[in-house]
Amino acid sequence: MYLFSRCQWLVFLFLSTTVWGASFKAGVARVKITPPTPFWLSGYAARTNQASEVLQDLWAKALALEDAQGQRAVVVTMDLIGLPHDFSETVAGLVEKRYHLARQQLLLNCSHTHSGPMIRNNLEVLFDLNEGDLQHLTQYRDRLQDQLISLVGEALKDLSPADISRGVGKAGFAINRRQPNPGGVRIGQNPEGPMDHSVPVLKIASPGWALRAVLFGYACHNTTLGGNSYRICGDYAGFAQAELERLHPGAMAQFVILCGADQNPNPRGTVEHATQYGRELAQGVETALKGSLTPLEPRLRASFGWAQLAFAAHDRARFEQETASDNKYLARRAKLMLQAYAAGCPPRQLAYPVQAIRLGGEFTLLAMAGEVVVDYAVRIKREYGPENLAVLGYSNEVMCYIPSQRVLREGGYEPVDSMIYYGQPGPFSEKVEDQVMETVGQVLSQVGVRRINQ
Ligand SMILES: [Zn+2]
Repeated sequence: MYLFSRCQWLVFLFLSTTVWGASFKAGVARVKITPPTPFWLSGYAARTNQASEVLQDLWAKALALEDAQGQRAVVVTMDLIGLPHDFSETVAGLVEKRYHLARQQLLLNCSHTHSGPMIRNNLEVLFDLNEGDLQHLTQYRDRLQDQLISLVGEALKDLSPADISRGVGKAGFAINRRQPNPGGVRIGQNPEGPMDHSVPVLKIASPGWALRAVLFGYACHNTTLGGNSYRICGDYAGFAQAELERLHPGAMAQFVILCGADQNPNPRGTVEHATQYGRELAQGVETALKGSLTPLEPRLRASFGWAQLAFAAHDRARFEQETASDNKYLARRAKLMLQAYAAGCPPRQLAYPVQAIRLGGEFTLLAMAGEVVVDYAVRIKREYGPENLAVLGYSNEVMCYIPSQRVLREGGYEPVDSMIYYGQPGPFSEKVEDQVMETVGQVLSQVGVRRINQ
């Protein structure tokens, strides 16, 4: 056994030094982040109780990468709804201090499961929580912070030579959910709307060619299970990861959610649907793994930038009126806004992070924050053509939806109503898409990816 492994190792060294001169290194680590029950689940305002049982454990997983020159990055994925700004930046600051990874070298992505815990203070407008609830949430959040810091360290400790290749699969269960109606756009099904059914796949193999990790993505809300479900679960993304880990014992399957903010699984509502979509997505990944994968040159570059997204104009009078509204969510949001006005800092714009991690000379993880509609992925892939892009949403922090100009003009839940639950003052200004795209262009250009359709 030992001799055989050593033999393979030598063959790998020969191949990698012949082709690239040196190889990537990769390290993996995972930690269970299932909250204790009972616990408040996030995502659906309709829930009236805490979760009482666990259908599936939740995980945070880290993939550390190092190129032939020692450049590093760590991708951390979590079966969670989304992280608030201050939490992500605190984690990033501690990671920088402890492991000397700069901000652009740490990518955080949440699967957006709606059957996972609330992460304080993300979406706190959803529920009227008492002091005990808030303490409970704070304890979970503090523990999560410690777990994530240790997790990054574990993945870095695990760094060892690896071959990385990329491919693409397909899954078809996502449907555009912005259904046009005479009264405006409503959440439903819109088979004519834009969608992106591609499944980018990154294969991380040890020198013996054994699969160590597979990173894959899909553009669809992780909401197969509805607001009537009170069981903790990773939803379709959790089932897809579990299925791949069953098929490849010892390997880590890591899901990154793409620009699926206006996409829903269809049909949805049952555990059977969620397991079926998990299997379908895993099958899409399997097909890619068995197909022809493109090896990536062991070179890593990372960049990170902040856009400033302007909100549409708002004034105090509107919130004074809304504070007396029968709609409790509108009233809670108005209270937050009046506090901000009273403190002299009503939010006029929002700092928005964009990050790129490029592997080799042809594959880039573009990580965008918030709930990003699919128009961005379609446009970015068109404009940055030959580069193979995985355009991630829900990355680093989730502060609200990020509509395209088209979606903003059409109105409806994503660009307007959801801003109430997120405690934002109202919709973005019409410049939002331009402001996002300018920073996308800067961040991509810093890692050497150029726009083709000037
Ligand atoms: Zn969402």
